[in-house]
Amino acid sequence: MSLEFHIEATAESARRGRLITPHGEVETPVFMPVGTLATVKGVPQDVLEDLGVEILLSNTYHLYLRPGVEQVRKLGGLHRFMAWDRSILTDSGGFQVFSLSELRKLTEEGVTFRSHLDGSSHFFSPESAMEAQIGLGADIIMAFDECTEYPAEPERVRKSMELTLRWAERSKKHFEGHKQEVPWDCAGTQALFGIVQGGMDLGLRRESAERTIEIGFPGYAIGGLSVGEPRALTREVVAATIQHLPADKPRYLMGVGTPEEIAEYARLGIDMMDCVLPTRAARHGLLFTSEGKISIKQARYACDRGPLDPKCGCRVCSRYSRAYLRHLYASNEVLAQVLNTVHNLTFYLDTMRAVRHSISLGR
Ligand SMILES: [Zn+2]
Repeated sequence: MSLEFHIEATAESARRGRLITPHGEVETPVFMPVGTLATVKGVPQDVLEDLGVEILLSNTYHLYLRPGVEQVRKLGGLHRFMAWDRSILTDSGGFQVFSLSELRKLTEEGVTFRSHLDGSSHFFSPESAMEAQIGLGADIIMAFDECTEYPAEPERVRKSMELTLRWAERSKKHFEGHKQEVPWDCAGTQALFGIVQGGMDLGLRRESAERTIEIGFPGYAIGGLSVGEPRALTREVVAATIQHLPADKPRYLMGVGTPEEIAEYARLGIDMMDCVLPTRAARHGLLFTSEGKISIKQARYACDRGPLDPKCGCRVCSRYSRAYLRHLYASNEVLAQVLNTVHNLTFYLDTMRAVRHSISLGR
């Protein structure tokens, strides 16, 4: 077994379902917290379990550089290494290579890049990205793609999309030949998802979807969005691309959005999403609440005895005051990051719980 996906209720385009990986079940639509370096910054794994996190995302590029894939593999893969028995998804490293690293050189074969940590030179190809992700051992792994920048000339977008398609075939071929090498002690293998590219061109998105489906994957991601385009355009591309994805396979929208946006994408028929926003914003004192976004550093909260969000039942809102959270943040205390992150993650997870409940009711 590598992956099962069951749709249990639908409401117009939205679907509620269950994703079953070798490490457990995931209720969809799901928001996946980002644990870049095998940690959701500031939050221990037992707290993530208490919050109801069923799957988290980790970044291949970062883990490849530090501590290194071979080390994680020798320690039994990511699940063992980070003491997380539930599901994990890794990205292919492509997005970070194109957004973080310097002096990258792109060829048909792959990408040469310099580490953002120490300037050392590295090479990623579809084959080496698969090798890295098999070594890390996440339940769901991603084909190596080129994330097209925005804006880009039409000719450039087509070439980039064609390259991603050739890389998708190579990714699948290498994965099929090596998937037994995953460092697990449980039954089953990983599942490799394909990624639809094509920039903001709806025709190219359709072509990319059709040709990626022809290659054949157990799930499909929509990549290349949230790269600086207006939000209305993101929504338009997502809505158009979904029309060309198979209804019986999970659909993963990569790297989006605000709480309102993730609810909207679920409404359009997206099953999986991830975003650094709740965790990154938390570390900057920006908190999502039922009354809107607040910046806890503001002086107006200095004597506020009330909870951060009166409608939130999380362990932070049920125990601490806004005044205390403001003090922690203003004093640069480590606990500020921990508590802020726990609340923001709860807000995102609750948003998805509400969405799933609405779908069950047919709304
Ligand atoms: Zn809360």
